[in-house]
Amino acid sequence: MRTYLVVGASRGIGLGLVAELLKDPTTHVLATARVLSRSNGLQELATTYPSRLAILECDATDAVSVERAASDAAALLPNDQGLDCLIHNAGISQAPFFDFEHIDIATFQHELTTNTVGPLIVARAFLPLLRISAHKHSSASQSETKLVFVSSNLGSLDEAPEWVGLCDIYSVTKAGLGMLARKWGASLKAEGICTVLLHPGYVATDMATNITEWVKENQPHVPKISVEECATLCLGVIHKARIEDAVSFYANDGSTIPW
Ligand code: NDP
Repeated sequence: MRTYLVVGASRGIGLGLVAELLKDPTTHVLATARVLSRSNGLQELATTYPSRLAILECDATDAVSVERAASDAAALLPNDQGLDCLIHNAGISQAPFFDFEHIDIATFQHELTTNTVGPLIVARAFLPLLRISAHKHSSASQSETKLVFVSSNLGSLDEAPEWVGLCDIYSVTKAGLGMLARKWGASLKAEGICTVLLHPGYVATDMATNITEWVKENQPHVPKISVEECATLCLGVIHKARIEDAVSFYANDGSTIPW
C-alpha cells in the first residue's frame, strides 16, 4: 500500500491526479479541497472508493487550516504508514494579462501567498509524515518518498523571454517556488526525500480557459491536453523520479526543463 496526498484536488489537474491514482488498487489517497461543499468530483470518487480515498478540508494559505489537515491525515493513515508522496498542486493565476507596471499589488501578494508560500506551509506541516515514510524506506535503493510541487514552465527563468506578456506575476511566483524546491529539496535529499518540481503541460482546466487565445497566437506549437492525459503523464514522471536526480524540474514527458 502506498499513501498519497494531493493538495488542491477539488477540480482540474488535482482531481485528475486523484482519479488516476485510485485506478491502482494498492494506493491509499488523501485529497484536499479548500471548501468541501465545492468538491463534487472528489465526493463522487469517495463514493466509488470509500476505503481508499479520504477528503480533507484545507486552505493551503492558512497555517491553522493546514495544521488541522495534517493532524487529520495522521489519524487517517494506516498505522505507522506515514506519507509516501505529497503532491502540492494548489495554485492560482488571477491576472494573466497584467504587466508589472499595472498589476494590482494586492493581487500579486495573494498570488505569491498561494503559489509560493502555500507550498511551504503545506510541506512543512506534512514533513513529519513524509519522514516516517523515508525512514521506513531508508534501506531501499530507490527513493519511495516524494515531495512534488506542481509548477509551470512559466516559472523557468530560461524560458521567460518566450512568454513575456502572459501570466507575468504568476511566473514570478512559480520561479520562487522553483527556488524553494531547489534549496529545500537539497537538504531533504539527505533525508531520503526526493523533491520534484513538475510542469504538468498546457492543460484544459479552468485556469487555462482565459489564456487560450494568447497561446494560439503566440505559442501555436504548444498542444492543449486533457486533464486525464496530464494525470497519466505526470504520475509516470513522479513514479520514475529518482532521488539521485533530486532536485529536478520535469516536463510531463519526463524531460528536464531549464531552471
Ligand atoms: P484550476 O484553477 O483548475 O484548479 C486549481 C486548484 O487549486 C483547485 O482545486 C483550487 O481549489 C486549488 N486551490 C487554489 N487556491 C487554493 C488554496 N489557497 N488552498 C487550497 N487549494 C487551492 O487549476 P489547474 O488544475 O489548471 O492547476 C493546477 C496546478 O497546475 C496549479 O499549480 C497550476 O499553476 C499548475 N499549472 C497548470 C497549467 C494549466 O495549463 N492548466 C499549466 C502549468 C501549470 P478551489 O476549487 O477551492 O478553488
